[in-house]
Order: sequence, then structure tokens, then C-alpha cells
Amino acid sequence: MTNNTYKYVLAIDLGTTGNRAILFDRSGNIVGQAYKELTQYYPQPGWLEHDAREIWQDTRTVIELVLQNTKISAREIAAIGLTVQRETCLLWDKTTGEPLHKAIVWQDRRTASMCRDLAAKGKDKEIQEITGLILDPYFSATKLTWLLNWVKQERPAIDLDNVIAGTIDSWILWNLTGGQVHATDHSNASRTMLMNLATLEWDRRLLDLFAIPTQMMPEIKHSMGSFGKTDPQLLDAEIPITAIFGDQQSALFAHGCDRPGLLKCTYGTGSFLIVQTGLNLTRSSQKLLSTVAWTQPDSTNYALEGAIFTTGASIQWLRDGLKIIASAPETEDLASSVEDTNGVYFVPALSGLGAPHWDTNARGAFLGLTGGVKREHAVRAVLEAIAYRVKEVVEAANRDSDFSVARLKVDGGASQNNFLMQFQADALGIPVERPAILDATAQGAAFGAGLAVGFWDDYGALISTRKIDRVFEPAKGGRDRIEDSYRIWQKAVERAKNWSE
Ligand code: ADP
Repeated sequence: MTNNTYKYVLAIDLGTTGNRAILFDRSGNIVGQAYKELTQYYPQPGWLEHDAREIWQDTRTVIELVLQNTKISAREIAAIGLTVQRETCLLWDKTTGEPLHKAIVWQDRRTASMCRDLAAKGKDKEIQEITGLILDPYFSATKLTWLLNWVKQERPAIDLDNVIAGTIDSWILWNLTGGQVHATDHSNASRTMLMNLATLEWDRRLLDLFAIPTQMMPEIKHSMGSFGKTDPQLLDAEIPITAIFGDQQSALFAHGCDRPGLLKCTYGTGSFLIVQTGLNLTRSSQKLLSTVAWTQPDSTNYALEGAIFTTGASIQWLRDGLKIIASAPETEDLASSVEDTNGVYFVPALSGLGAPHWDTNARGAFLGLTGGVKREHAVRAVLEAIAYRVKEVVEAANRDSDFSVARLKVDGGASQNNFLMQFQADALGIPVERPAILDATAQGAAFGAGLAVGFWDDYGALISTRKIDRVFEPAKGGRDRIEDSYRIWQKAVERAKNWSE
């Protein structure tokens, strides 16, 4: 079969809100996609779980659907790129393939006290030195410890020699390859709080600290390279899996941010601003995270990241929790229908506060409520709060670097919201650039996989084919007008900090 037989690359994008399969052609265009929203389980306040079986089932379903809808055969697919929500992790039995507990999602705060105890012992500095991360329940390490303790207590009959661990990429790779490959890539591994950022290996001291047996952990591989082939039972072709990225790093790759100083912000469940720092491991003085952008057999790219936990998740909460909107897109018209928030400020700390505060005990809040406040004001306050959180992180990145962010490249579900993007441009006083393909996460995985397998050969050329949908220019004097509200909002953030006991 010549290389021309292959016409497509398949991206599998497993997000927090839902799971997607997208087929890209040789021009980098989307030829078909399928999506399924994922069930969220909230067993206790501050906890969030996903059913790993559902993620695997939905992965199969969306792949089947996209092939059926486009009438494309699996034999025409050159490679698969996989990108996933990061940090979310699980344990499963390698003899039965059965997950031992629901996966604990990155937003889950159940291990806050474990983190506090470690900090009290002064372990936070050592952890940051080794992993580039801030000690926080966000990362996988304490979640895996919790899961292991649960298995030992609740399922004592389980033979721990059969138990293996992984983030969602490892779980899906293991299933895609029919249980043949237990691996992850450096970008996902760098978010577990168990990988040494300099050596790019699991760190013995951290595995001991978190009491995680080494043999449970997946092999760490280059983000672009060979991860095995799909199980012949699965599709009517054995398709090579040639790229795995954490979702945010994948979007960074899709935006062409491969040189120091280039950055993007994704507006999904959370918002993540990532700045490429090139081949050097750079450390932050502003509580940003040092992380792996991606690796190839001959190079490692690093990045600095500002992680904001609940932005789109606050919109989902307006829909599913408060039920004051029927759909996320509706927020654009509602927010635009009022002049301002009528004095209402929202703190989107539904899962604590990430960068640059790192306050596990912060909780969400509406402040400034008076009798005249309507649903439109509350909705607008939520959108403005998303823009304010991003502004805080952009300002931290500016303080951390020897350049000033001059333009914000965006993607992700909530970047479709024109009100939010215009408000963001105004609040920052810089242009916000939105690409035509908002699924940058999936696009990055497809590009990585296609480049690794020789389906494409020039990253720069591929990136230059990407079209821009719209540039939101900052309104004249907009930043000054917003600055006062921003200052009051920061006061609201201070009130919401250290709330939960
Ligand atoms: P993830 O990859 O984290 O699952 P996505 O990039 O798929 O996230 O984006 C989904 C999120 O975007 C949801 O939280 C949803 O509420 C939000 N969202 C989608 N469309 C809009 C919109 N038009 N306005 C505001 N938020 C939106």
C-alpha cells in the first residue's frame, strides 16, 4: 500500500465535557466529526468523577460514527493522534480490563488535606523543584494514592500485582491496542506530579513519597513517535497511534507556538494559558507551572502554564446546576442585553483557585447582590469573571517574562462566545485572535500524528494553512473603563479565598 492510499488522520480528543473523534484530510481540513457529552459524577462537594468505561465506550462510538457518517474506511487512515483531559487518573486490573473505581477528575479536591499535610512537612518545595508543579490536589499523584488506599480497604482481595495506573491517555491507549501497550507521553506524565522534569523519568523519591509502586506506572514515551497499533478486532485496519498530547499542549502545538514567547489560551472546562519556553526548562516566580510542551525523539520543548480550573465549567453550572440558562451559547445574548452586571461580581472558584492564587479552599461566590439583580446580570458577571481570571494570568506571565503579551491566540468551546472574546480584548487592551477551527486540541493531535508518520512533512507549512476566523480588537479606552471593575472583582476574590474548612 503506498503512502497515497492514506487520505486522513484521525484525532481522538477526550475532554472533560465530552469525547470527540475528528477526521482531518491532507490539507488539514476537517472532513467529519462525532461527539458525545460525558456524564459528570459529583459524589460529594468538591469531588468529581468520570466513568472510565463510559470514556472507552464513547471513544469507540465516536470513532464508529465519524467513519459511518463520512463513509471513510479505517484503511484510509494514516495514523491516530490522541489528546486527553490531563491529570484525571484511574487504576485498572490488567487481567480483566476492569477499572477498580471511577476515574478521579483533575478538578476533584478530595486530596486537599493530603496536600496540606505534605506542605506542613515542607515537601512542597522539593516537589516543585522536581516536577515544576505547585503542590495541589489538581495533579494526579495524590489522587492515585487515594485510589490505592481505597482499593486496599474496599477491595482487599484484589492482587495489586495486576493493578496498573494511568491518566486517560494510558487507559485509552491500552484499550485501543487490545491491552498490549501501557504507556503515556511526556506532556501527560509531566502533569502527574511524579515525573522529574529534567530527566523526564518517573522520580523514585516521589513514587516513594506517594507510596505508588513503580510497576503500576506506564512507560513514558515521546509525544510524537510510536505508541503501537489499534487492535485488529477493533477496526478493519491496524492503525498506528503516533502522537499523544495533554489537551493544552496539543492546542499549543496546533497554534504553531513552537518558539519561546508564543502563547495561547484555551477556553474549555477550565482555561489554560500556555507560553512556549523552547528547549530550556524555565521556572516561574509568579506561581505559573513549568511543564513539558511536547517531546520528539531528538528534542524536548518546555512551557510555562497558568491553569484556571473553572471557566466553561461555570457556564455548565449555570445550565445544569442553577438551570438559569438552557444552553451555553445563550449566555452571549443574555450578557449583551444588559449594560453591565449591575454591581454583581462572580468568583469562579467552584473547584478552588488555580494560578496565580493556588487556594484549594477558595469557593465560588456571587458578591454585590441587590434586589435589582436579574439573571442577565448574573450571567454577564460569570462571563466577565472568566475574562478577569485570564487577565490575572496574562499579567503574571508578563511579570515572569522579558516580553509583554501582545496578542492572545484563543480556542476551546467558550471562545465561540463573541461577548466574552470582546470583553477579554478590552480587559487586556490587546487583540484576541480566534482561528476558524476552534478544535485546536484535536487539530494538534492530528498534526502531531500525521507529522510523526510522514503523512505531512512540514510543520510550518501545515500551520500556515490555518485560517483566522476573527480578530477582536480592544475598544479604545476599554481597558481603563474595565480597570475599576477589575479592582472590585479582585476584592471579591479575596473574600472567596480560604472559605472551605
Ligand atoms: P473540554 O475540552 O474541557 O471538554 P471544550 O473546549 O469542549 O471543553 O468546551 C466546552 C466548554 O465550553 C463547556 O464548559 C461549555 O459550557 C463551554 N461553551 C461552549 N460554547 C459556549 C458558548 N457559546 N459560550 C460560553 N461557553 C461555551
